[in-house]
Amino acid sequence: MTTKTISPPTTDTAAQTTLTRRPRRLRRTESIRTLVRETIVRPEDLIYPLFVVPNERPRVEIKSMPGVFQNRVREAVDDARRAFDAGVRAVLLFGLPEYKDGIGSASWDPSGPVQSATEAIKRALPDMAVMADVCLCEYTDHGHCGVIVDHEGVKDVDNDQTVALLAKQAISFAAAGADFVAPSDMMDGRVGAIRRALDGRGMSDVGIMAYSAKYASGFYGPFREAAESAPQFGDRRSYQMDPANVREAVREMALDVEEGADMIMVKPALAYLDVIRAARENFDLPVAAYNVSGEYSMVKAAAERGWIDGTRVMNEILTSIKRAGADLIITYHALEFAER
Ligand SMILES: [Zn+2]
Repeated sequence: MTTKTISPPTTDTAAQTTLTRRPRRLRRTESIRTLVRETIVRPEDLIYPLFVVPNERPRVEIKSMPGVFQNRVREAVDDARRAFDAGVRAVLLFGLPEYKDGIGSASWDPSGPVQSATEAIKRALPDMAVMADVCLCEYTDHGHCGVIVDHEGVKDVDNDQTVALLAKQAISFAAAGADFVAPSDMMDGRVGAIRRALDGRGMSDVGIMAYSAKYASGFYGPFREAAESAPQFGDRRSYQMDPANVREAVREMALDVEEGADMIMVKPALAYLDVIRAARENFDLPVAAYNVSGEYSMVKAAAERGWIDGTRVMNEILTSIKRAGADLIITYHALEFAER
């Protein structure tokens, strides 16, 4: 039997012979795509934020953030353990205190929710890195990140009075066993003041992850429900950064590095990937990025409606943040991502 080989008709010989670069060869199969994948997000890259409430309050799921809870200490420990078992190596704690006042004095109460959770998590999981968010807004009755003063009839957050209180809060978290304190207030000079305060008390091992470029962002909406920290008047634009600025972000980061930050952070992440890249290109310290509540909630809400594939979009977002230059990603997706 004879077989006759028939060549397919060539319609465009010129195009076929000149097309020597075919990038699609590297995308042909999943194995090949895996071989050439440039960016891989690991559970160890993620920091899991936890909200801690006093023990007499119930555990409540935050309506605008499905899968995220206001935890009592024992539940915070349970969540931390689940995350640790899935490969996550750090949690970031936010506290909802029993009482609020003008200066946020509940934040340096040694039996406050963050202090209690820090002690309990370190006891249960000594190898979990515990980071404590340092700011006054969760603890003040006016919801601002600092002490309010009256400047000729205009209410303003006083920088230097606030910095002194932040240092007090940081020492209290460090004394409870926090490995890192993370000032998120955006006051001038707070990283240096916290560093000196820690060192002055023999806490030189405690690190500072500075929210260096934190923008006045609409993406924080759901967080304010979670942390019960919405400002009661005005907004935060006199201390958080203008979303339009990136050179200013580099200046802010340089100041924090100079003042002794061990890690710098960009917040939010998704609308600020260029700022993350600027951080990576300008500094050699670890760069963290905060994949904030609004970014999380938009994914959850759209997935719930069946408009997007939530898991796929989560993976894509986390990959994009790492690809932009972040070493660490603070994300409410941490547990879900790591358990997959
Ligand atoms: Zn704040």
